[in-house]
Amino acid sequence: MLQKRVLLLGSTGSIGDSTLQVVDNLSGRLRIAALAARCQWEKLLEQVIRYEPDSVALGDPQAAEDLRRALARRHLSRRPKVYGGAEGLVQLVRETEGDVVVGAISGAAGLPANIAALETGKDLALANKESLVLSGAILTSLARQHGRRILPVDSEHSAVFQSLLAGRREEVDSIILTASGGPFRRASLAQMQRATKADALRHPTWVMGAKITVDSATLMNKALEIIEARWLFDLPPEKIRVVVHPQSIIHSIVEFHDGSMICQLGPPDMKIPIQYALTYPERLPLPVRKLNLEEVSMLTFEAPDPVRFPALRLAYQVLRLGGTAPAVFNAANEVAVAAFLRDEISFVEILGSVERTLREHDVEDNPSLEELLSADSWAREAAARQLQPITTRSR
Ligand code: MG
Repeated sequence: MLQKRVLLLGSTGSIGDSTLQVVDNLSGRLRIAALAARCQWEKLLEQVIRYEPDSVALGDPQAAEDLRRALARRHLSRRPKVYGGAEGLVQLVRETEGDVVVGAISGAAGLPANIAALETGKDLALANKESLVLSGAILTSLARQHGRRILPVDSEHSAVFQSLLAGRREEVDSIILTASGGPFRRASLAQMQRATKADALRHPTWVMGAKITVDSATLMNKALEIIEARWLFDLPPEKIRVVVHPQSIIHSIVEFHDGSMICQLGPPDMKIPIQYALTYPERLPLPVRKLNLEEVSMLTFEAPDPVRFPALRLAYQVLRLGGTAPAVFNAANEVAVAAFLRDEISFVEILGSVERTLREHDVEDNPSLEELLSADSWAREAAARQLQPITTRSR
């Protein structure tokens, strides 16, 4: 059987770890052709020794230099080509032969490499939702142009992708993304105003990186997922809904026009959507702790509170605005979350700041990639500028 060659971008993060476990489990079927990370060169070195990729990249040029030096000191049977810097990451994708790129570099930093993946005829297993939020129109048109697939790794979108197999496109009434509700599902607005970093990082069901955990607490993660779904499944905003489902057992639902709802259930383990994206249309065995329905016993659903969680309302607004608005929405959030993680702004100020930045922005329609990236930098500066007085006040 032919081995699928995987380029794993973001190999030292939490999706990276899970992807490597999937590869360990299916080593006859999957082979790591390339590994890339931002700056953790020591962890990348261990992965290089274990998986013997053809090439590796580090977004941080100094870290790439450190890795090069460490590799030179070792006796390896296969020596990978080492790329460094932001352009190095794109070069690695262009020059490494492979079948599928796992795009798991968080934030806007992963975008150019994801574009390069589709342009060089590779499928894109996308864990980096910001890429689609920022430039969904561009990525989906590239995929069509090159006859490649964008396969969802995000658990909700994987669930929708799997549930959609139960019917035809024109038979879909709506998709319903489930949200755990995060650590503040039951908190009062006053409690949320006092929330600390430690409170926000305490996610009830999933273990993830800090940025996405804060996004889950604000429901910004779900807001970005609404935009992600719009592009992945080519659906108008009014056909995408969100329901809070605290147990995180049902990962999302498709409602068909005969009233049937088809959903995917499973343990909250990212290895499941990752493996499905890498082996689609096949479903292969995976040693996960299976779900015990008697133990789960209860599945509950509730409507998200629009007052405490303004992110969802903003997502629909941003989709209506279109053009550069999603890019600004995403970038302003990245800046605000970083400020919150540095203890510079309060929890509720994150979305306050995002909304103010959006209001300041003049939307451009049908933006090119350059225009999207410049809207992204504009939003970063605008968000930082209007956070300044707040951060100085709190110091
Ligand atoms: Mg998700």
